[in-house]
Amino acid sequence: MTEYGKNEYDVIVVGAGPAGLCAALYAGRGMLRALTIERGAPGGELLNTDLIEDYIGFESIKGWELSQKMAEHAKKFGAEIVTDNVERIRKADDGWFDVATARGTTYRAPTVILTAGGTPVKLGVPGEKEYAGKGVSYCAVCDGAFFRGEVLAVAGGGDAAVEEADYLTRYAAKVYIVHRRHEFRASRILQERAFANAKIEVVWNKTVSEIVGTEKGVDHLVVLDTVTGGRSTLKVGGVFIFIGFKPNTHLVEGHVKHDAAGYLITDERMMTSIPGLFAAGDVRAQLTRQVTTAVGDATTAAIAVEKYLAALREQEKAKTKAAAAS
Ligand code: NAP
Repeated sequence: MTEYGKNEYDVIVVGAGPAGLCAALYAGRGMLRALTIERGAPGGELLNTDLIEDYIGFESIKGWELSQKMAEHAKKFGAEIVTDNVERIRKADDGWFDVATARGTTYRAPTVILTAGGTPVKLGVPGEKEYAGKGVSYCAVCDGAFFRGEVLAVAGGGDAAVEEADYLTRYAAKVYIVHRRHEFRASRILQERAFANAKIEVVWNKTVSEIVGTEKGVDHLVVLDTVTGGRSTLKVGGVFIFIGFKPNTHLVEGHVKHDAAGYLITDERMMTSIPGLFAAGDVRAQLTRQVTTAVGDATTAAIAVEKYLAALREQEKAKTKAAAAS
């Protein structure tokens, strides 16, 4: 039986989006002493999404409502959620993690599940905040179906922008890709697919400088020509912004293996290159970032934590036995 000191746990879950809440639920069911730390309201990116239509079992549910259901469900199995901002996760010399927060508390545990998500890079132009969820989106899979038959714009020229523009043509009548240069950064294969798609029109050398709307949502964009400096308008019902995504991995002190874009690389247990540090959801390097994949990762991570802790206890027992015998 583990003896716990003040602020000591079996596992600390950082973040309470779908991955964090699911990890907390499984940790609770696994009878682990677990703490979940979240800086805002539980829900993560769900709170930035109006309607969710691709979470199996829920044909259509508001993002905030699904967040609430997930939090209630996790709490039913004993999840302890504190509101605080994690500033640093550091593996100490004794092998435990020190998780330091903005309020000045240091929580400790032999394992951490990092589910701190990531943040889509924002354009930072007028109208972007105002119309978020009302025509401004950062997720084609989440919101594309709300724009059937409409004209849309995608901002950006990387893999995400070009691939998601192609995806959006399933629903939209037309998709403009507004890119600030005269060539894409995206991979050749994605570019070729987009160029072959009759519903896509590329607007080269332009950036979105303003998103203008009405009470119904986005109405048009003001675009700036990056060569001439001239301004023009683009009539669209929505704009999808894909100018990069920043995983929140800066909290971890020391080197942890990541891919070129900064996402954490894990093994099949969701363990990172730091033993005892697990990652789930949008911080993790993987093919897609969905609510379903986040909760899948989290399930694996929480169960892997149980097994990891059991193995640690066995090691401790063996050490104690060996010390007694010598
Ligand atoms: P990215 O590769 O960093 O591309 C960002 C794009 O946004 C670039 O075209 C950039 O323009 C443009 N941009 C950046 N800031 C801007 C601003 N303020 N205003 C206007 N445009 C701006 O990001 P990403 O497309 O999200 O991809 C991130 C990573 O995930 C990449 O490694 C990518 O390969 C990977 N990914 C892969 C796939 C796939 O393989 N299917 C799909 C999605 C993402 P410039 O080109 O002029 O810099």
